Amino acid sequence: MALPGARARGWVRAANVAQRRRLSEDAGGTPSPAPGSQRAALYVHWPYCEKRCSYCNFNKYIPRGVDEAAMRRCLVTEAQTLLRLSGVQRVESVFFGGGTPSLASPRTVAAVLEAVAQATHLPVDSEVTLEANPTSAPGSRLAAFRAAGVNRLSIGLQSLDDAELQLLGRTHSASDALRTLAEARRLFPGRVSVDLLLGLPAQQVGPWLRQLQELLRRCDDHVSLYQLTLERGTALFAQVQQGALPAPDPELAAEMYQQGRAVLREAGFRQYEVSNFARNGALSTHNWTYWQCGQYLGVGPGAHGRFIPQGAGGHTREARIQTLEPDNWMKEVMLFGHGTRRRIRLGELELLEEVLAMGLRTDVGLTHQHWQQFEHQLTLWDVFGASEEVKVLLEQCLLLLDHRGLRCSWEGLAVLDSLLPILLSRLQEAWQQRPSSPVPGG
Ligand code: SF4
Repeated sequence: MALPGARARGWVRAANVAQRRRLSEDAGGTPSPAPGSQRAALYVHWPYCEKRCSYCNFNKYIPRGVDEAAMRRCLVTEAQTLLRLSGVQRVESVFFGGGTPSLASPRTVAAVLEAVAQATHLPVDSEVTLEANPTSAPGSRLAAFRAAGVNRLSIGLQSLDDAELQLLGRTHSASDALRTLAEARRLFPGRVSVDLLLGLPAQQVGPWLRQLQELLRRCDDHVSLYQLTLERGTALFAQVQQGALPAPDPELAAEMYQQGRAVLREAGFRQYEVSNFARNGALSTHNWTYWQCGQYLGVGPGAHGRFIPQGAGGHTREARIQTLEPDNWMKEVMLFGHGTRRRIRLGELELLEEVLAMGLRTDVGLTHQHWQQFEHQLTLWDVFGASEEVKVLLEQCLLLLDHRGLRCSWEGLAVLDSLLPILLSRLQEAWQQRPSSPVPGG
């Protein structure tokens, strides 16, 4: 594999200049990538972790040793292949997730970014996020990631209580997390996100809210709240099954979520998505692409993508899933240029279901214009306007349908899971009743 050329090295330099210029600027409104266009977001999966957290069922591996040079070559090769297949002309965000991508070397991050910049247009102000675990991200490493082109950090803080962190099997303490957060803010001001878990076994509302308050005194402009889910096959699941730990109480978790979002709103954060809160316009561009059903490419073991393979003559959006296990994935990449294990063509209705379910996760919801990009025949009014069940949700002020489009109210966003089955079944009904059309959606 050729090393990155001068043009690409220029991208990292130019991106660093752009980053310094942007430091005090507001990220602005919400980007809206056009579906089916030649734009995409790019996700890169780093599959390795130091240790298995007790609640985690992600695609991650605890290696004895990593051949990072080989992994780097494969990530670069697969990114190049998928960019070619997709015919994408512009990448608007890159997200290094995992696993623990802060365990990768900054050189690997730079090599992927350089390859992307060589293959397509990667604007110097593109959002480039790295997920970081406090113990693998001391200040010097964070500075090296910044020099490699990263301009946004997402820190897996999870809790500010040492006993909880231990229960979760995390490798860091609360003070490690706060130190990393302070260093991250110094290096990436306005561009640091933190994750906080809620609904742990035996966790109570009051102490959790105090953690959130403490976090608000220390955090930057982006916070994500995630409810712990007990996943079969994890150590935590087994402990609960065996009675060593109480099962998480869903009512307490709902209470934490409700109170947490109110506290964040009070502190000036906009809840722009079910689990995500930002102030000063610090929304995640990358995740916004997912919620808007924009195109994205998934590079790395087990990564998922959704795009039209226009570069290979395709006209239909496909879901692509890469081979899970890193060694097998690497073999496939070396043989075929990519490790795609499954390709699934998405039907028109399937795509619309995604547009609905993903779009309603955001506070903006589905605008009429956005919906029309995917569906030319049925308007939002056609689908939802005459439904008695939807009318009840509108009357309960959980949902709004107006000149802007369809969206959840503040109350509705918190119970979206209970609204979606009604809305999806209404969409399916309307779809079956529509006159057949020669115009393909999406
Ligand atoms: S660091 Fe993240 S991906 Fe790795 S085991 Fe823990 S939760 Fe899972």
